[in-house]
Amino acid sequence: MFEKLKETDPEIYDAIYKEVIRQHDGLELIASENFVSYPVLEAASCVMTNKYAEGYPGKRYYGGCTHVDEAENLARDRAKQLFECEHVNVQPHSGSQANMAVYFSVLKPGDTVMGLDLSCGGHLTHGLPLNFSGKFFNVVPYFVDKETEVIDYDAVMKQAGEVGPKLIIVGASAYPRTLDFKRFREICDECGALMMVDIAHIAGLIVAGLHPSPIPYADFVTTTTHKTLRGPRGGMIMCKEQYATDLDREVMPGVQGGPLMHIIAAKAVAFKEAMKPEFNEYQKRIVENAATLAKTLSDEGQRMVSGGTDTHVMLVSFLGMKFSGRKIENRLEEAKITVNKNTVPFDDRKPFIASGIRIGTPAVTTRGMGPEEMRQIGKMIARVIEGRNDDAVIAAVRDEVSALCERFPLYPELR
Ligand SMILES: *Cc1c(COP(=O)(O)O)cnc(C)c1O
Repeated sequence: MFEKLKETDPEIYDAIYKEVIRQHDGLELIASENFVSYPVLEAASCVMTNKYAEGYPGKRYYGGCTHVDEAENLARDRAKQLFECEHVNVQPHSGSQANMAVYFSVLKPGDTVMGLDLSCGGHLTHGLPLNFSGKFFNVVPYFVDKETEVIDYDAVMKQAGEVGPKLIIVGASAYPRTLDFKRFREICDECGALMMVDIAHIAGLIVAGLHPSPIPYADFVTTTTHKTLRGPRGGMIMCKEQYATDLDREVMPGVQGGPLMHIIAAKAVAFKEAMKPEFNEYQKRIVENAATLAKTLSDEGQRMVSGGTDTHVMLVSFLGMKFSGRKIENRLEEAKITVNKNTVPFDDRKPFIASGIRIGTPAVTTRGMGPEEMRQIGKMIARVIEGRNDDAVIAAVRDEVSALCERFPLYPELR
């Protein structure tokens, strides 16, 4: 692969080569990651990276945009068809930029917003003090119920009535249960707030009808394109027509300059893939795999946050135990199983140490793994947790992981 690069920059070639091998040889269970198709990879590395295209199709600040316009129009049309939304902006460089553009288009610095607390599964951009969202806005977090670890909508309704937010942010990075968007709309209407739903994690499930869509309820819907949606790394915003002009102006020139046209072309390719019936089948397998994996972990004696999952993601809690999420993440990585440490509801450890791990099935499902492999993986994870202080256990699991990965090749084009 990459013959020219190998010649001119052997160091970077070497790093990329080793990353190809790493992705093939390990079990990728980070819930926010996935493997794009080879055509998406081709589009993402194409000559459109050379093009400046500030503005929107037909209204650019640069000449020579005929073909990038074709690509962006395809991306927009396909996104609208996929999500059945009124307006879409496919230019955000990432999910964070998408959220930033929405906030700045409807809020003023100091305005009050509500978002799900970070330890309960919310995202950095939903109000972490160190993030721009927490710096610019007065963010009041809402929480999951302490017992059920599921959002208590009545409590959020009551809290919103007291707080009077201008915007309520719905959505999460580490929440394993179905979200009730209709209920959130009622809450927003009751307190006069705008509603933004961030579907970064569950976009693919929504396309396949496995999670309800927020489009009928929300003023704004933001997403990443690289998680369950299985596109290139990037962001996207959908909104009602009435917000379209302000929103587009806020993306560019508000928070971004030139769009990444190669990535927008790759988004279009991913959206076309997501229109196929095979994509729905794939999403169904993600959810089935997650259910099987969660049940296996539970049967093996692990404590699952909220008792399990409705989606692609689950959390194992070590709250109150002597070892942390960080320790287990490290031990699993030694066994070539990649997960991330994650806070759990009402965590008493800092996010960098955390009392849980987050596990997701999108990437291993892309590789073709099914329920049988999920049972095997669940047992291996439980063995590592229980045998966290025993190097022999780690070594044995690592050999089993290697054998499993050999059976499900990744990117034969790059061999
Ligand atoms: C991943 C994620 C984002 C941010 O995406 P980046 O592309 O990493 O900026 C935003 N919101 C939620 C809920 C996410 O899970």
